[in-house]
Amino acid sequence: MSANLFELRGIEKSFDGLSVLKGVDLDIHCQEVLTLIGLSGSGKSVLLKMLIGLIRPDAGTIRFDGERVETLSEKEWFAVRKRVGISFQEPALFDSMSVEDNVAYGLREHDQLAGGELTTRVSDSLTQVGLPGIEAMAPASLSGGMRKRVGIARAVAMRPEALIYDEPTEGLDPINVTRVSNLMLGLRSALDITTIVATHNMKAAFDTSDRIAFLHEGKIACAGSPDALIAKHPQAMASFVEKATFRIPE
Ligand code: ADP
Ligand code: MG
Repeated sequence: MSANLFELRGIEKSFDGLSVLKGVDLDIHCQEVLTLIGLSGSGKSVLLKMLIGLIRPDAGTIRFDGERVETLSEKEWFAVRKRVGISFQEPALFDSMSVEDNVAYGLREHDQLAGGELTTRVSDSLTQVGLPGIEAMAPASLSGGMRKRVGIARAVAMRPEALIYDEPTEGLDPINVTRVSNLMLGLRSALDITTIVATHNMKAAFDTSDRIAFLHEGKIACAGSPDALIAKHPQAMASFVEKATFRIPE
């Protein structure tokens, strides 16, 4: 395996003439916790979706485990999505299905496992997110924090090499913020996975990350360890940190 799980170079993306990404260069190291921070609307979610081929760049290259992927066909992206799980900002759980079927969804889609093995994998995944034994419950009956964790269990069930979390702590109370942060770190250690997070919760970012990358005006303005960023950060980040303490509404 190459030392970088992802390598992004010169990534550009516009929507309806509005330029969102203007040349993003970023390496994501294997097994690190990398957090992408930036103002609301700066393009964090767009960048995360590019890592699994849900949005295609207009220009630039994306390497995954050393291989170019930005040119892959929809079918070929399937193989990448098997290896990289994502927990979306809004965990899109199917309310018509049980928790068990929601967690099993990706496994069935990819024909990974069947029967008893599938049942065991689902129950292990729920245990890994701290929700053992809730297979029969309906998603609608769960709290916001629990729904997030079921969304994470669905990604974990695929035994991915990397997990992407988009705003994992958004809308949670402080206890659940800590719980989800600890969960992300616990999964990283237990499963040896690369962890990629987008958030504008600065405290969570500084508490949990090996490195932080600041997306500003369409580019990575700076990237480094939390300590390095505190010691030497650009003016743009200072104003972001100041605004972030007041929580920027989506
Ligand atoms: P962030 O996650 O940093 O808050 P986003 O990545 O969601 O920001 O969005 C960045 C910009 O791209 C926003 O202006 C948003 O409206 C726009 N955008 C994102 N996805 C789409 C899309 N599929 N179609 C059109 N515009 C989009
Ligand atoms: Mg977003």
